[in-house]
Amino acid sequence: MVRPALALERHCAAGPTWRCAADGEPFPCAAWRSLPLDDRLRGALLAGFTLFLRPAIHDLRGRPEGPTPPQIVRRFLWFLPMTDEEARATALRYR
Ligand SMILES: [Zn+2]
Repeated sequence: MVRPALALERHCAAGPTWRCAADGEPFPCAAWRSLPLDDRLRGALLAGFTLFLRPAIHDLRGRPEGPTPPQIVRRFLWFLPMTDEEARATALRYR
């Protein structure tokens, strides 16, 4: 059996496309989004994925069919319950 952390190592991405290197899905892909969440994992994900917000917003905003900054925030912080208003406020902090 493969440990989840090792399986996830291949599911990485970087700008400017922010697509998963393993499966080509918009990052974070289903391998990440299907993780069973608990508070400890949420904390770890928040610390890690917050680092992607600024470069991802920089790369993805303003594309023709591209996501808006609040949509990018919701995409990268999928593990946090967040209202539209909170996503907008977070996007303003990280743009
Ligand atoms: Zn992936």
